[in-house]
Amino acid sequence: MQYYSTNGKSPKVDFKEATINGQAPDKGLYFPETIPTVPKDLIENITKYSNEEIAYQVIKPYVGDAIPEAELRRIVSETVNFDIPVVKITDDISALELYHGPTLAFKDIGARFMSRCLGYFVKDRKEKVIVLVATSGDTGGAVANGFYDVPGVEVVILYPSGKVSSVQEKQLTTLGKNIHALEVKGTFDDCQQMVKAAFMDESLTFKLFLTSANSINVARWLPQQFYYFFAYKQWADKQHPPVISVPSGNFGNICAGILAHITGLPATHFIAACNANDIVPEFMKTEIYQPKKAVATISNAMDVGNPSNFVRILELFHNKFLDLKKVLSSVSISDDQTKTTLKSVYQKTKYLLDPHGAVGYLALEEYQQSHPGQKGLVLETAHPVKFYDVVEPVIGETIPIPPTVQQQLKLEKKSMVINADGELLKDFLLGM
Ligand SMILES: *Cc1c(COP(=O)(O)O)cnc(C)c1O
Repeated sequence: MQYYSTNGKSPKVDFKEATINGQAPDKGLYFPETIPTVPKDLIENITKYSNEEIAYQVIKPYVGDAIPEAELRRIVSETVNFDIPVVKITDDISALELYHGPTLAFKDIGARFMSRCLGYFVKDRKEKVIVLVATSGDTGGAVANGFYDVPGVEVVILYPSGKVSSVQEKQLTTLGKNIHALEVKGTFDDCQQMVKAAFMDESLTFKLFLTSANSINVARWLPQQFYYFFAYKQWADKQHPPVISVPSGNFGNICAGILAHITGLPATHFIAACNANDIVPEFMKTEIYQPKKAVATISNAMDVGNPSNFVRILELFHNKFLDLKKVLSSVSISDDQTKTTLKSVYQKTKYLLDPHGAVGYLALEEYQQSHPGQKGLVLETAHPVKFYDVVEPVIGETIPIPPTVQQQLKLEKKSMVINADGELLKDFLLGM
């Protein structure tokens, strides 16, 4: 499979190069040259297939010859080796729980797949690869965990001091080995700026092999298709596939779902559920795409003012707005609505959503009011305990902490505190 850049000015590359480059040199996003179709039998007899086999069949055409079969099968089975259950909340709404992986958020799946692919691609190189990433919280943990102990890869994570939750911070700072946490005295934007400057600095890139684990990387984007197929496998009424509501920020997750649908996954409709960052909901109303400065909300992993992956969704529909509209709706949900939903769903059903899932739940419920009889699936993208500071006051109860997280909270944080100064990052990298 070859990948072209959505900006059209960079050469085509294969899966290996697209993974190593992350972003195309012309700043576009890599996009598969042809859209494959999944085998008919996989859909018709999906309950007979193991998750490993489904994932392998789905990803194989995108990887092409870049990874041999046995290796790819190993990577895929290590990527999906935890539960991804569909859980019924009401008669009309079920949740696809994507948070049973090591860092309790759906980003584990993309990060685990990408880290193993990159590990394979660099294993014969003499120089080590340095993965450099800035995080506002969830990405860092998933990337750290995914790359932990991968030979030949060192990971440097920059995070804003005092601005990530305690669970998130422990996930970044307690692994050790090849994972290095830099606690930056500044904001997330400062961290991102420092990372960008390092990639632009030829005196660094000349000496070191630097790469990023950004969410636009094809090796993070494409494996997110897997769990849409796992959901269909568990869906009882195969004649009436679900309306799928996806809490969306950078739009990588929902874009993977729509790609899966175009390649053969049955689905009735997709809803991109957004918080106050309503760039796509506005676009679906007006056909005008107007990026804005991100505003802070209680579903903070979706606080994105210019969703990077949306261009891939447009590409999937060849920029035909009317075709897109048949498959995708999008709404904006306020923080107040998010809290009310979280609370009322918990009171009525005892099902505890996280703030991101609550945004998805209400968006789905509103859609169902105008489309009666259509059953829906909301993607639960994170475990509520990750956002206990928001969730506990809303429901007036404390959330039991899962044993794995309890273990983690006991571990000692190891980070290096630095000022928000690119020169300090440079010294650190050169000293590794
Ligand atoms: C990253 C994240 C999202 C947004 O996913 P995108 O693929 O960026 O749209 C939603 N929920 C949680 C919990 C996240 O960590």
